[in-house]
Amino acid sequence: MRPELSEYTPIYSGKVRELYEIDGEHLLLVASDRISAYDYVLDTPIPDKGRVLTAMSVFFFDALGVPNHLAGPADDPRIPESVLGRALVTRRLDMVPVECVARGYLTGSGLKEYRANGEVCGVPLPEGLVDGSRIDPPIFTPATKAAVGDHDENVSFERVAEDVGIELATRLRDLTLDVYGRGADIARTRGIILADTKFEFGLSSDGDLLLADEVLTPDSSRYWDGALYEPGTVLPSFDKQIVRDWLTKDSGWSTDAGAPPPALPAEVVERTRARYIEAYERISGLSFADWPGGAA
Ligand code: ATP
Ligand code: MG
Repeated sequence: MRPELSEYTPIYSGKVRELYEIDGEHLLLVASDRISAYDYVLDTPIPDKGRVLTAMSVFFFDALGVPNHLAGPADDPRIPESVLGRALVTRRLDMVPVECVARGYLTGSGLKEYRANGEVCGVPLPEGLVDGSRIDPPIFTPATKAAVGDHDENVSFERVAEDVGIELATRLRDLTLDVYGRGADIARTRGIILADTKFEFGLSSDGDLLLADEVLTPDSSRYWDGALYEPGTVLPSFDKQIVRDWLTKDSGWSTDAGAPPPALPAEVVERTRARYIEAYERISGLSFADWPGGAA
């Protein structure tokens, strides 16, 4: 018999995920089906999104070959039936308060900074780069975690060193770039570009630095279809484009309306769900039908 979720103490609720305490050393990290767009968490969930993102994280934790926080398989007996497939048992770590971002392509907040001062997080870049330009070698562009509802703030490496010490800051930078490179190589073999991504690391009680949180999911990463890549054109996001297009082109809602977006029609939900599954299957080469927690 699996435990009920109500037997665990909830300790944290984020925009998309929830954290429960299993015991002093283990947490249950539960991904919901909630989706965010334009800084709003939408009222309409995308069925199976939590399972797809969990499957993707597990695929990469296995494939990356770096020490991580997983403390059991996706069907671990400590996982309640109600969240099976979208929850993971992890070691409880002392999280390092740095959002460890790596960028191999210039876009988003990086592009904004570059246009303002020619650098990103204190890293100077060559002149003449455009939206989507490749950054070679990739750069470490850390951010500090914002309170719920706020944007993370890009900071320099020196600022991270002030916060956590030069030794840990250096390890974070080297690990982030190493893991990004591994992830980007895996995605590239599938025709997908990993433009940028965010990792979180935590320290175990023995002082080991482990890759934690979710890894290389569409929520923590920007994936582009390699076949559509062209620097200078704004590339559609692999996962959220369907929702974004519907919201801004078809729904009558506007990003500066000051009001939350409307509910998504069933057809948009279904296409988005299919897109998430496609992303997982394409990147991992695995079948989502084999992932735990599906309806029997
Ligand atoms: P956002 O909604 O912007 O992502 P958030 O990062 O606070 O906000 P979640 O990502 O949903 O919210 O929450 C997951 C939380 O779990 C994060 O605070 C993350 O640092 C923490 N976390 C992940 N892995 C571990 C771990 N092994 N031990 C302790 N905390 C962890
Ligand atoms: Mg988070």
